[in-house]
Amino acid sequence: MLVNDVDIRTSAVSPSQYPTDGWPEIALVGRSNVGKSSLTNKLINRKALARTSSAPGKTQTLNFYEVEHQLFFVDVPGYGYAKVSKAQRAAFGEMIEAYLTGRTVLRGVVQLVDGRHAPTADDVAMYQYLTYYHLPVLVIATKMDKVKPSQYNKSESSVRKTMTLSPGTPLVLFSAQTGMGKDAVWAWIEARMQD
Ligand code: GDP
Repeated sequence: MLVNDVDIRTSAVSPSQYPTDGWPEIALVGRSNVGKSSLTNKLINRKALARTSSAPGKTQTLNFYEVEHQLFFVDVPGYGYAKVSKAQRAAFGEMIEAYLTGRTVLRGVVQLVDGRHAPTADDVAMYQYLTYYHLPVLVIATKMDKVKPSQYNKSESSVRKTMTLSPGTPLVLFSAQTGMGKDAVWAWIEARMQD
């Protein structure tokens, strides 16, 4: 998608505050500092629309970004401070749970992990949570400009294996610095919008 027009529409903490346009939504999840804001900015060709966070875990609202008057990117607060394993699901933020499990226009979830390291237990738990609710997931390994090309395959299999990604879950290697993977991410989003 060629994006010229993006604006923050609203910050919400409860369903009554969600937009009512009926446009498809793509949620973005990941641990604090994983590169979520940088990914969003790269996707929409901006330097600094979605603010890059210097205080991890500070954003506690769902932020709805209106893209080209036809789609919302929904920035979900970074996890890492909230456990989301099956046993601890009840402890997972009510706000996030309400959104991810109850939002009918949610078409898919982009889950970011740090491509430089093996996924964490939180990453694994989040993926299990999303698949438990049958949400279509795109996993993105970020910061790949910090990984040698000769190690790409290794990174990919490490993420797939550690997170036990189902064969149907796509994985994109991404860099906000070089733009690597950007087209693949957009292709997935656009396909999800058509569904
Ligand atoms: P957020 O907390 O998930 O929104 O993460 P940010 O987008 O604020 O990024 C956290 C830090 O990682 C910042 O210092 C970014 O500059 C850096 N970062 C994000 N994406 C990339 C990337 O693709 N490559 C590199 N080298 N650094 C990145």
